[in-house]
Amino acid sequence: MEPIFTPPPLRLLPIENISDGFPVGRIFCVGRNYSDHVKEMGGNPDTAQPVFFMKPPTALVSRGGDVAYPPRTQDLHHEVELVVALKSGGRNIPVSQAASHVYGSAVGVDLTRRDLQAEAKKAGAPWDAAKAFDGSAPIGTIRSGPAPSQGKITLAVNGETRQSGDLKDMTRDIPALIAELSGLFALQAGDLIFTGTPAGVSALEPGDVVAARVADLPELKFKVTETPR
Ligand code: MN
Repeated sequence: MEPIFTPPPLRLLPIENISDGFPVGRIFCVGRNYSDHVKEMGGNPDTAQPVFFMKPPTALVSRGGDVAYPPRTQDLHHEVELVVALKSGGRNIPVSQAASHVYGSAVGVDLTRRDLQAEAKKAGAPWDAAKAFDGSAPIGTIRSGPAPSQGKITLAVNGETRQSGDLKDMTRDIPALIAELSGLFALQAGDLIFTGTPAGVSALEPGDVVAARVADLPELKFKVTETPR
């Protein structure tokens, strides 16, 4: 059978020192994985459980491309995150085997329509409009090899630091996240996992320049542009 129209292209992410790209399957995200961010969102870090949600590949913005301020929000927030890229997967992966499925890692930003997320939380409604919109997942160059388990995670807007934390403060580390996710979904090569954000999330405006860093991974830098009409 032939497709009735040309399908959208596979999303390929740049990889450091390699001309080939990383083909993206699904994008899993975890919320509430740093206790200081749980606190700033009004939650109780002693009882808050990490929560999983997804973004579609159309959320990705790579190669330093501009991010258009999305429509229908007055409160676009940045969340700097370590992103893990999988080269293989499976169901019910034990914590001890989880690292063997990691291809590499990158710096990502989970952009969030915070006003729509607050409405959704209040209504007990899904988060898709708040989290999964076009351009909601700017991502840097992937570095192959084990993902860092400690090191600074920071985000600056127009040169001013807004978020600053350490990877070792994750509630669930990367092996634990992979093990937990693989119990819910059969993980596959090409899947990405956004691993949560530390405190300091704040609003972005058109014209802002965002610089995000995680350990010594390649820096992610992008500009926020006006909402397309
Ligand atoms: Mn997030």
